[in-house]
Amino acid sequence: MEDKINFKKSLGQNFLFDKNLLDAIVRDAGVKSEDIVIEIGAGAGTLTRALASKAKLVISFEIDESLKPILDKIKEEFNNVEFKFIDFMKFNIDDLDFEKAKVVANIPYYITTPIIFKLVEEKERFDSITVLVQKEVAERFASTCGGKEYGTTSVILQSLFDVTIPRIVKKECFTPAPKVDSALCRLVRHDEYQISDFNKFTEFVHLAFSMRRKTLVNNLKSHFDKNIIIKNLNNIGYNELIRPENISVENFIRLFENLKN
Ligand code: SAM
Repeated sequence: MEDKINFKKSLGQNFLFDKNLLDAIVRDAGVKSEDIVIEIGAGAGTLTRALASKAKLVISFEIDESLKPILDKIKEEFNNVEFKFIDFMKFNIDDLDFEKAKVVANIPYYITTPIIFKLVEEKERFDSITVLVQKEVAERFASTCGGKEYGTTSVILQSLFDVTIPRIVKKECFTPAPKVDSALCRLVRHDEYQISDFNKFTEFVHLAFSMRRKTLVNNLKSHFDKNIIIKNLNNIGYNELIRPENISVENFIRLFENLKN
């Protein structure tokens, strides 16, 4: 199958063909027989096939219509697979007829962040999101307070999801091999925190990290009264010199809820 494909680098086409690895990804994603699974980037349909053997229904998006003949064969094999030849970024998730789904995908790396944030916008529809992304991106998503990679995306994602990295996938596992290793990143929805206005919270986190080397007070003072910021920081046990990378997700939410009033 591999030699018939004209891999398009511009579309992030790095495919997986190792069946053991594909089955392991499906297992890591916790796919069960009652699940509806959304896949972004069907490629040659190798992950689609592994997903279809476990799930109730797989809805798989692929922007590259030249892959249609290969994917048509999977439709002959499985009656629980739907392919949508469309740019996922232009698709309105509300047009899908399901209440809850799992996302499982080896996503095109050139649009990792836009895809993740599109899924986050529709967070109520997905109880888990398991994506293969570049290793350093996965580490950023999963990094905790004080970690080198801890930043805006870590806080925003972890305010909604438990983020783990169940598996590293070496670059040699892909065809063609990309320049860097990948990691499977799993986001499982939690209800640990009440956030009154999620969009405003994300703006707040962006502002808090706007200058990484500055203190939190310096980053926030254009939008909030300096003394009130310091008072609120003191109330949760921090002094005014604290930097954003040393504030936990829980305390970011507390600060946001207190300062917005
Ligand atoms: N799932 C396959 C696998 O694991 O071998 C392919 C993964 S490959 C990393 C990503 C796939 O996403 C490519 O087939 C690419 O054509 C497709 N793709 C790229 N941009 C897309 C978009 N905006 N919407 C839907 N699919 C896209």
